[in-house]
Amino acid sequence: IIYLDYAATTPVDIRVFKKMKKYFLSTGIFGNSASRSHQFGWDAEKAIEKSRINIAKLIHADPREIIFTSGATESNNLALKGIYEFYKKKNIHFLTSLIEHKSVLDSCRYLENQGCQITYLKPNKYGIIDVLELKKNILPHTLLVSIIHVNNETGIIQNISEISKICQKKKIFLHVDATQSIGKIKINVQKLNIDLLSFSGHKIYGPKGIGILYIRRRRPRIRMTPQIHGGGHERNLRSGTLPVQQIVGIGKACQILHTEMKKDILHYKKLQILLWNGIKNIEEIYLNTYLKNSVPNILNISFNYVEGESLIMALKNLAISSGSACTSSSLEPSYVLRAMGVKDELAHSSIRFSLGRYTTEKEIQITISSIQKAIQKLRELSPLWEM
Ligand code: PLP
Repeated sequence: IIYLDYAATTPVDIRVFKKMKKYFLSTGIFGNSASRSHQFGWDAEKAIEKSRINIAKLIHADPREIIFTSGATESNNLALKGIYEFYKKKNIHFLTSLIEHKSVLDSCRYLENQGCQITYLKPNKYGIIDVLELKKNILPHTLLVSIIHVNNETGIIQNISEISKICQKKKIFLHVDATQSIGKIKINVQKLNIDLLSFSGHKIYGPKGIGILYIRRRRPRIRMTPQIHGGGHERNLRSGTLPVQQIVGIGKACQILHTEMKKDILHYKKLQILLWNGIKNIEEIYLNTYLKNSVPNILNISFNYVEGESLIMALKNLAISSGSACTSSSLEPSYVLRAMGVKDELAHSSIRFSLGRYTTEKEIQITISSIQKAIQKLRELSPLWEM
């Protein structure tokens, strides 16, 4: 089976795994970084701080601006709920989009119930949020703009630098969900003037269960209310014993990206072109990934007159994800494609192929011929297909 679901998760890089192994057993570094009175604790703390430096370096941040969480879901929750709770005495408005990850959308729904006013921007047909539209929707009491950098279903990139200029001018906080952009696009939080940035270990060949929330320290300082209370870890923003092995893992994954991201990107691009060129001549196929403005590791394609689920069944040799399966077990067509104005039938027949560091040309060749065969077979069986 060929794994083409790297946007869902990645395997851990062997170099990351080797590094992490030292942090489990009694013969290694297993201490609690909060134990400040002995060597075991100091060693753990040293490893964590080294990792924080590597993570900060990748996004051009200060290590003190890096907060460890359990994943991007938690980082997104903390960013949105933490800010709202701190400032909620005032009338508050958040601006976001209809194509955010569920962890942002569901946090927003929760905050709406708490009294927060939220506007959800609709993207254009290419999946891009119109910056002027965003500007028009800013209200006098808008406190935060939260925008996904790269959409997880389509791979489409948002214009964060323009959005950030508006936010800066209007003195509004900007939160960016960078879970799918880290490692695919260079991110400089200082140049981009980003206030908060979320990402995760398991999308960048690091371990699952570890995420980052970057919180800008420059003035005006961002204030937030913690969502998990306890021992006051992570500058009182996220309590809980730090998972040293995961932190060392995400740190190593970031260090690798720091030197190898260019190589990864060239590899993804080559394979993406190979895959698209191999299937683009199939009749009635629609690209939902606007290639001019997307990351090179994702291709989202709709195959008209074919059900996404049947196609996934016919392509059992490929680990891919369908537009309808993305939202857990429901068979609702993808809300992301819908927001872009893709018709329900086409959204239902959409497949996301996401390529990774370990994808080979040979695997792409097999993928191309498998798709060609499966589409032909399914269309022959379809009563709607009469060509
Ligand atoms: N945001 C985006 C854009 C994602 O793609 C994902 C993962 O699917 C998340 C957030 C959630 O990340 P995690 O699995 O680390 O909670």
